[in-house]
Amino acid sequence: MNARDPWRTAAAPAWRQAGLMRSLGAAFSVAQLPQGLPGAHWVARNDALARELGWADWFDGDAALALLSGTAQPPGGTLATVYSGHQFGVWAGQLGDGRALLLGEADSAMGPVEVQLKGSGLTPYSRMGDGRAVLRSSIREYLCSEAMHALGIPTTRALALVGSPLPVHRETVETAAVVTRVAPSFLRFGHFEHFTHTAQDEAALKTLADATIERFYPALQGTAAPYAGLLEAVTRRTAALLAQWQAVGFCHGVMNTDNMSILGLTIDYGPFGFMDAFDPGHVCNHSDHQGRYAYARQPAVALWNLHALAQALLPLIDDSDAALAALEPYKTAYPRALLAALRAKLGLRAEREEDEALVDDLLRLMARDRADFTITFRRLATFGTESGAANAAVRDLFIDREAFDAWSARYAARLRAETSIDADRAAGMNRVNPKFVLRNHLAEAAIQRAREGDFSEVQRLAQVLQHPCDEQPEHEADAGLPPAWAQQLEVSCSS
Ligand code: AMP
Ligand code: MG
Repeated sequence: MNARDPWRTAAAPAWRQAGLMRSLGAAFSVAQLPQGLPGAHWVARNDALARELGWADWFDGDAALALLSGTAQPPGGTLATVYSGHQFGVWAGQLGDGRALLLGEADSAMGPVEVQLKGSGLTPYSRMGDGRAVLRSSIREYLCSEAMHALGIPTTRALALVGSPLPVHRETVETAAVVTRVAPSFLRFGHFEHFTHTAQDEAALKTLADATIERFYPALQGTAAPYAGLLEAVTRRTAALLAQWQAVGFCHGVMNTDNMSILGLTIDYGPFGFMDAFDPGHVCNHSDHQGRYAYARQPAVALWNLHALAQALLPLIDDSDAALAALEPYKTAYPRALLAALRAKLGLRAEREEDEALVDDLLRLMARDRADFTITFRRLATFGTESGAANAAVRDLFIDREAFDAWSARYAARLRAETSIDADRAAGMNRVNPKFVLRNHLAEAAIQRAREGDFSEVQRLAQVLQHPCDEQPEHEADAGLPPAWAQQLEVSCSS
């Protein structure tokens, strides 16, 4: 292999000459070279994803580290894209890729994908920032992207994590890292908002919407109302995504419109958190003083964000009633998807009128007794319809045992009514109720070790989270209740 020209290997990603972002034109992005990480080294490598992409051979070579640390550039150069957005409910104006760069679009075994570096240095959109990302937050993004994917939740992927001794100033001095992210597209609601409100360039807005439809929503091409159709399609994907988040107790933490994917992917992992003790009011982001993005508010916030997208698309839809109508499916699609997910979590196959109350009452008990979200659902698989006292493993999670007993009598009756066989039900429930999620304290332990130069815990945890529903008895400690110190952990927007 020629080290000076590392792209000319058969196994290298086949970069597309134009790619969607580049083909849109100059209004959408600027050419920006990365500032390579000095002393770059691997922290974690996602060999499984490299294989899925068909890039395994290239990923094993030296060229990969040069590219994914921002030290070398791909043939077509790199781009920073411009977007705007609403942050914490307030219009924030122009934002853009302040520390992310698009390496390009490449053909892969998964189809065309965009490859992006996060933390690769200053761009014209860095504003007050330094263009960098710290190792701490990069580990969290790397681990959570792949944990979400393994849970079957739509997300941007993480191919690699590169570290460096380069100091980065946050509340304290930390070190820099770059995560390589992969997705069919990193387009956000904010990209559309930008051309309507900031650039006020309707032609560019149309170019963007047409390209999005052509590539990602092709069934809308040639329909009578393609832009309302686009809004409705995004609405449905977002509703499905939110149901999946809620069903695993995932809190995003910064659901600003610039962090909402036009493909309904989970994007921009920052101060996210998986809930330990169930609390509908749980706020995972320490910087979110108002609790705007609390767990229970996420579904409504997503709809609020869709309204912002509707407003951005209004010049094209040209009919506010049609735009509002395109959002309407959210109100049925989201609760339906959530109820379906919760039915599966409870091992219910049939659909019955009383299921919603059964689910709600369980969640109410869990909230009142601060039962651990993940453990409660996982243990529910051991529930026996005829077991009575043998159901102690679940019952013990509740403080108010009488209330639990009353609920469990209803649950047992409901299961018997659909002649549910305990063993079959348990197997099905164990496929949807994860045993392993990226709890904050697990990420924190991996981060502490990584700061000491030992990346084995990051890599081990990544492996465990690849199989979230498997028993993996050798990793039992990762599935337990969080230690007391976990309550003191604070994650904020600082990243
Ligand atoms: P976030 O809240 O992380 O989604 O970021 C909001 C905006 O701030 C985006 O435009 C980011 O690119 C930008 N940003 C965040 N951190 C930095 C940083 N350290 N340097 C430059 N831009 C940043
Ligand atoms: Mg962001």
